[in-house]
Amino acid sequence: MQKKIFRKALIWNGKKNVKVVDKLFPKISENEAILKVETCCLCGSDLRTYMHGNKRVSKGSILGHEISGKIIKVGKKVKKFSKGDNISIGADIPCGKCKFCLNGQVNKCEINLAIGYQLEGGFTNYMKLNNLVLKNGPIAKTGKFNDFDKIALAEPLACCINGFEKCNITNINTVTIFGAGAIGQLLGKLSFYFGAKKIILIDKNQKRLNIAKKIKSANFFVNSNIDIKRKIMKITKQEGSDLIFTACSDIKTHKKAFEIISKGGTINFFGGLPINADPIKIYSNNIHYNELHITGSHGSTPAQHLKALKLIINKKINLNGIITHKFDLNDSVKAFKVALKGEALKIAIKPNEII
Ligand SMILES: [Zn+2]
Ligand SMILES: [Zn+2]
Repeated sequence: MQKKIFRKALIWNGKKNVKVVDKLFPKISENEAILKVETCCLCGSDLRTYMHGNKRVSKGSILGHEISGKIIKVGKKVKKFSKGDNISIGADIPCGKCKFCLNGQVNKCEINLAIGYQLEGGFTNYMKLNNLVLKNGPIAKTGKFNDFDKIALAEPLACCINGFEKCNITNINTVTIFGAGAIGQLLGKLSFYFGAKKIILIDKNQKRLNIAKKIKSANFFVNSNIDIKRKIMKITKQEGSDLIFTACSDIKTHKKAFEIISKGGTINFFGGLPINADPIKIYSNNIHYNELHITGSHGSTPAQHLKALKLIINKKINLNGIITHKFDLNDSVKAFKVALKGEALKIAIKPNEII
């Protein structure tokens, strides 16, 4: 009898219930591959699934979609990747066939398949990459660049690039970002990259604002316990903010955004709200007379994942300090508790290390 080989994985087992289990080492067909996962970061959406479940995630699934690692085995028919390749992987897998995939809006795919949802995620030491992931997914080689913690951040950075691509960013002077979590801070760093001069980060969590100050994710830091409108108007010399991102799940920020937007400005509702959130009232005359742009963004495309990866590899965006906590796989249940406290910016799980 053949000896069974196991791997370790963190699985979601129902609301507020995750655990580390032994799973059989994946077998692959000739179109598949195996990744030795070096880093998989914990995303806000993993936390939401942990707390509330998600109809795309069934019990026993492996979460995690901000992934980096090394390919250790490929099937005979896999041509794009080889053993030893350093790899970055994101979340959304285009089906390649629906109307959205065919017109390039692949993050709105009707099938809406994603790694760490219907497909197995990166909270495991060895991850199976199926044919669809290898063929259509946000998966890219990073060459000799092997700073795996930074490579894993290509996915959230790609979502932020998607956010900017949905906005009018010609001549942006001021960007205001509600939420100084990892996404808010990545949006801040991209704002510098896209030429904004005044980047205002707002949060009630002073610890996060302090981290942002230290790692230069913005140049104005506003605690939300003060009169935000007055403060933003002062910083912008009464003009209001050209571009506003709501990178948190607080409906108050959606309302506030309309009070601080400049003429011709853009609001991007970046962070989703809880499913039962109330509607908000909008004075459409403001949109009309002030020619406002109201948009949203969700997820990212493989092309944006590649753009993000290039910014990281070419050191155009400095990601030092975004990851504030690291856990090995055995301790990964603790990571969810730490994340819920709101003290960490980004937590990395290191499935093949002892920390
Ligand atoms: Zn994510
Ligand atoms: Zn599709």
